[in-house]
Amino acid sequence: MILFTKNSAMHTLGDVPMLGSNDVKNPRRSENYIEPQLAQHLWILPILLSLLFVGAVIIWLQRADTVDREERRQNMITDALTLETRLRAQLDFESVQLENLGKSIQAGRVTATQFTASKEVTSGLSQLWQSVTWLDQDNRVHGHATSLLASPGALLPAVANAEGMRGISSHLVVFLYSATGTLAGSLVARYSQTALLKQSVPWWLARKYHVRLIDSLEQELASTEDSRPRVTSHKLGIESATYRLSFDPPIRDAYLELTEHDLFVPWYRALPSALMIGFLILISVATWMLRRQMQGVSRAEAAWRTEAAWRSAMEDSMVVGLRARDFEGRLVYVNRTFAEMVGWPRATLIGMLPPMPYWLPDQIEETMQRHLRNMAGDAPREGYEARWLHANGHSFDVMVFETPLVDASGKQIGWMGSILDITERKQMEERDRRQADTLAHHARLTMLGEVASTLAHELNQPLTAIASYNAGVINSLQRDGFSDASVHNALQRLGEQAAQAGRIVQRIREFLTRREPELESCNIHDVVENAITLFQRELTRHHVNIKFNNDDHSIQVMADAVLIEQVIINLLRNATDALSAMPDHTRMIEITIHPAGEFFLRIDVADNGPGLGGRTIRELCTAFYSTKLEGMGMGLAICRSVIEAHGGALDAAESPLSFTPHGAQFSLTLPAFRPIQSDENADSNANAYDNGEGNDKAAATHHKVAA
Ligand code: ADP
Repeated sequence: MILFTKNSAMHTLGDVPMLGSNDVKNPRRSENYIEPQLAQHLWILPILLSLLFVGAVIIWLQRADTVDREERRQNMITDALTLETRLRAQLDFESVQLENLGKSIQAGRVTATQFTASKEVTSGLSQLWQSVTWLDQDNRVHGHATSLLASPGALLPAVANAEGMRGISSHLVVFLYSATGTLAGSLVARYSQTALLKQSVPWWLARKYHVRLIDSLEQELASTEDSRPRVTSHKLGIESATYRLSFDPPIRDAYLELTEHDLFVPWYRALPSALMIGFLILISVATWMLRRQMQGVSRAEAAWRTEAAWRSAMEDSMVVGLRARDFEGRLVYVNRTFAEMVGWPRATLIGMLPPMPYWLPDQIEETMQRHLRNMAGDAPREGYEARWLHANGHSFDVMVFETPLVDASGKQIGWMGSILDITERKQMEERDRRQADTLAHHARLTMLGEVASTLAHELNQPLTAIASYNAGVINSLQRDGFSDASVHNALQRLGEQAAQAGRIVQRIREFLTRREPELESCNIHDVVENAITLFQRELTRHHVNIKFNNDDHSIQVMADAVLIEQVIINLLRNATDALSAMPDHTRMIEITIHPAGEFFLRIDVADNGPGLGGRTIRELCTAFYSTKLEGMGMGLAICRSVIEAHGGALDAAESPLSFTPHGAQFSLTLPAFRPIQSDENADSNANAYDNGEGNDKAAATHHKVAA
């Protein structure tokens, strides 16, 4: 299933119930997974099975054919033996008939004149005989009759015999004896072998077989068919079988041969082969289509696996936690980031219904209300902040964006939440806020210190004057002998009170300005960069470009990083204010850090604003001096106090020549944590403070600190 959120994000989550399972990560674990190598060749299985099936059918057909042929052969042998018996019986019958004729002649019942008309002769000629001849002992013919001379009543058999005469004829012989037992002659009956076959072979046998009489030289003696070549034909794979048996005697050197007629093969006998071929063609086509289909499926599966692996990798590498919920609020999917965020395994989370284990226990009611609001589709589009509970007990802040979760058909099936862990951001904000508070407090205290200092300075003189005048009055009165004790005491008290007032003012000033910076080793590059970052929004708002030059990122100074940041921010703010008088695209601030001798480094904040107009640092740092409408005039004074409290100095001058027009440049120096090793130190020592009055003072301060 493909799930889309209505915003740009698309989540292809597979089947929702399996979301978060390991299937996507490791598709090999799927139950239906088949080894790719094996799957690639599976398509060949149907065709192999088909070939096997066809082979089995062919073997079965051959077996059936063999059995059939054997059966036909058995039948043929039986038929041949039956026919042989019939032929022998026929010839025996003819012999008996001829013997009867011989007996009649011997008994004198048949004379030479009666011979042709005798019933034995006519009967014989009407059947098989072609002719019958009576010979005496000297082989002289006594009587002779042929079938052509037979009576009209015997016409048909005679014709039949005439047909039979076309083949080779054979003869039967009976010897005649006198009453004394001497040979008196013989009777010879000639018959056609063809007629013998035609008369003896029953019609049903003749239909099945071609029957022949042949000699040992394969010469045809007689046949049931008129002219026919010897057949050993193959027709549709069915061979005409032949069976031969000896027919000697009664016919010398003769064989009776039965040959099956060409079998009539009905068209459907060829059907199995045709079906088999058709079947193979169909299976081949189906297999080819199956193979194409499988290749398509394999490609789609490979693409799916790749896509799943990519998706899994992408989801797991995201820093945004993702959770999909149905309309009941049940978690149907979470990515790894989400699971890690809340500290619960994905498998545990999936399927959970509210209240969730990552809700803060003391805010269940409130969170449930918010959940119901979200499920109703009223979650703020710009997201909302929440505080969740990690499984290990610590709470963390998150920003949640809810978007509708839709399936491939565009139907909404729940909500997809993108969750950002904003704990760090919140902590940063909190730190910034506290820092700002601290700074404001520092600023107020320092300002008060400055005010008190100014007041003390201003009040000190009148109070000293009061004390001096008071002392002078007391001295004058004593000298003049004025002895009014009460006046004397009053004046005494006046002097004491004036001195007390002076001490109080001094103490207050000391108290308010007493806060020493918390000096520690810090990286000045980071401090300046931090200040720029904090002030960046203002710079952007006022279209001011800033450039930060620092070659050595590792220089450490002894400073209170928070106070120095504020000094830099204050200088940046003044420069930005000054630049507001300049055209947008020209506004420029450049901060440069470079060594100032072996023990100090110097930070220049230069701008290309209107410049200082000849005003010195002393004037600019005067308490309550400001040229701005809403300015308090304490900023630079405080900056100077802070820098001096660090043992450094603040200075102001015109910008270096690289700027047009020349704006102002404020420089501050800070003591380095350890001596700076640099080739430029010599030059820097010589040039660092050659910019006027303030520089002299700074140099003096440095020397004082160094000493
Ligand atoms: P405020 O900012 O309240 O005026 P400051 O003590 O910070 O108090 O500044 C005193 C004055 O110094 C400003 O009013 C301004 O006239 C002048 N000044 C400070 N920085 C610059 C600068 N970069 N360019 C020109 N004038 C400046």
